[in-house]
This record gives sequence, structure tokens and C-alpha cells, in this order.
Amino acid sequence: MVEGEDKLEEALRASRAGERAQKERIRWTAYAAASYALDSLFVGLFVLAGTLPAHMLGVHAAAAAVVCASMYALYASGLNLRFGDRNLILPQALAAVGVQVLVVCLAPRIAFPFLINLFTVFAFGVLWMSLRNSLILLASSAAVVGFTFWQVGASAGFAASNAAETTVTWLCFTAILGRCLFLSIYANELRTRLAEGRRKLAASLEQVQELVHYDELTKAYNRRTLTERLEQERNRAERTGAPLSVAMMDLDHFKVVNDTFGHGVGDEVLRKFASTVQSTMRDTDVFGRYGGEEFLLILTATRPGDAGPALERIRAGLAAADWGALAPGLSLTVSMGVAGFRKDEAIDQVLHRADTALYDAKHAGRNRIAILE
Ligand code: GH3
Ligand code: MG
Ligand code: MG
Repeated sequence: MVEGEDKLEEALRASRAGERAQKERIRWTAYAAASYALDSLFVGLFVLAGTLPAHMLGVHAAAAAVVCASMYALYASGLNLRFGDRNLILPQALAAVGVQVLVVCLAPRIAFPFLINLFTVFAFGVLWMSLRNSLILLASSAAVVGFTFWQVGASAGFAASNAAETTVTWLCFTAILGRCLFLSIYANELRTRLAEGRRKLAASLEQVQELVHYDELTKAYNRRTLTERLEQERNRAERTGAPLSVAMMDLDHFKVVNDTFGHGVGDEVLRKFASTVQSTMRDTDVFGRYGGEEFLLILTATRPGDAGPALERIRAGLAAADWGALAPGLSLTVSMGVAGFRKDEAIDQVLHRADTALYDAKHAGRNRIAILE
């Protein structure tokens, strides 16, 4: 049931992401339509300036409308989702090249800005297209542009024979530069968003790493890490013949601390306990939270009988700590059970003996260290 709900949730999330992507594609179709409309406007202005016959406006507007309406229909119907490139960038770029070349062929006097416009089309394309599709676009464009050059020959030009024409050519050219700028602003924004995404991912990865190795409350090693380290130290001890001990620590009457001062203070006590032990233990030892109010100290190169001084220092550090700062009247003691590794035994066995020693310490009156030789 829960698994089914998870799958449903996942499917819903995917479909919402899919809807967002379709909306984004339709938004870009609107940008493309605006860009085509701007070009139609310039064709119209060239008509007004007397450069082109009036029907050229109709030809350009009709070609642009066919391209934009087809794109919109593909996205709105969801037909685009059947293709590998759901954004249909290559067909859009090819259509845009077609429209520019059509103008150059039919109205060679304004060839200059419309050929320059091919750069905008390419800038738009390379932002999203795969290398393969970019090469297809390049080859197709080279072919049609070559064909156009042969067709129009020296009549391809630059309309600037009077003030009106020069002004329209200049405006048309400036509008192309403006569109390049728009694309570069978008690419910059995309880069920033990607960098932000990468930063967030790295941060959550770091958090996951921390959760894997450390206890969330005390920031000391967690049980998993302690078990790993214990395994490593055991192997090293087996190899070198060095002694190895473990001390299981359990806070005395901790339930009373929770019951008297509240769970929040109990958590603070666990934190302060861990940091006090960490500041008084030997650098070579390994400490962590084994679970609940139980902690484990791995005493490297130490026989159980020699663990006393290091553990007494920790006990003295805990006794000297200012527990009253957490809650007036609060005091805390700890009991410890120590056991040493024996040759060829598993870590569970030594932990079991440390637990037995801890039980002895509790029964002997708590606030003490019991050592199993
Ligand atoms: P003993 O001296 O015999 O060890 O007595 P005790 O009260 O410490 O032992 P007991 O096992 O009865 O109680 C342990 C308590 O530790 C109960 C549990 O609620 C508390 N505890 C375990 N984990 C946490 C924690 O993360 N935060 C807090 N505040 N309390 C915890
Ligand atoms: Mg306990
Ligand atoms: Mg306890």
C-alpha cells in the first residue's frame, strides 16, 4: 500500500514536471512568435520605405504564422513528446533558417540583415542542441545559403539608398543585436541556476555523508561508524598483536534526568556528555554514541587492566563539568564496563563482555568503572 502510494506520488510529481516543461516550451514559442513579428514589422517598414513590394509583408507574415502555429499545435497536442528531442529545437532552427533564406531569395535588397539573423538562429540552437543536431543544422544551412547565393548573386544587398531605408536597415540590425543579447542573458541565467543547483546538491550530499557517519544529536560517531572502526582496529590488533579494549559507557539514572528536567535538557546532557568525553579522551582512541544514552570508547593499544587512568580522567572530567548550567540542581554520573579483545573473537563477543562489566558496575552502585580482564 505504502509502496503503491510512493509510486503514485512519483508519477504525480513526474506529470507535474512534464506539465511545467510543456508550459516552458509554449512560452518559448511565444518568444519566437514575438521575434518573427518583429521581423514582419521590419519587412512592413521596408515596404513603407519603398524598398519592397507590399506582398512581401504578406509572404513573411504567412511563413512566420505557419511556423509558429505548427510549433504551438505540436506542443499543445503533446505530439512533441513522441520525439527524442521533445523541445524540437532542430526543426525550429531549420524552419527559422528557411524563413530568413526565403526573404533573402524573394527580397535580395534586404539580404544583409536577414543573413545576419542566421546568427541569432544559431545562437538559439547551440544553447540546447546536441553536437549531432548542430552539425545537421550547419550542413543544411550551408546548403540552402549556398543555393541562395547562387540564385541571388550580386543582387544580394544592403538597403541604404535613402534616409528611410538606411534608418530601417539600422533598426532591423539593432533588433538582431538585441535578440543576441536576450539569448546571452538567458544563457547567463541558466548558468547561474545550474551553479546554484550544483551547490545545493553538494550541500545535501555533505549532509547525507554526515548522517551516515555521525550521530545527529551529539555529532559524535554513530553506531555504524563505531562498528566499522572497531572492525578495523580489531584487524590491526590481530595483525600486529597489539592489545585492544572497549569501554561501554551508560549514563546513570538518565531516565530521572528526562523525567525531572524534560527531554530537551536530557538532549543537552547527551551533547555535553559527548563533548566532555571528546575533550578529555586520548587522541588515539575512538568515541561515539552506541545508542540512546550508551556510548562506546575504543581504547587502541590498551590492555583492559591499563585502561584505568584514561577512563578515570574522563570520569573526573564529567564529575567536574558544570551540569548545573544546563538546569539548576542537575548532576550526572556515568558507569563504564571495560573488556579486552581476545584472539580470533568477533566484535560482538567483546561488546557482550563489556556489557556484562557495565552491568556489574551498575549493580555495584553506579558511578564506577568495572574491568573484565
Ligand atoms: P541506569 O542508571 O540503570 O542506566 O538508569 P537509566 O535511567 O539511565 O536507564 P534506562 O535504560 O531506564 O533509561 C534510559 C533513558 O534514556 C530512557 C530514554 O528515554 C532515555 N533516552 C534515550 N535516548 C535519548 C535521547 O536521545 N534523548 C533523551 N533526552 N533521552 C534519551
Ligand atoms: Mg542504558
Ligand atoms: Mg542509563
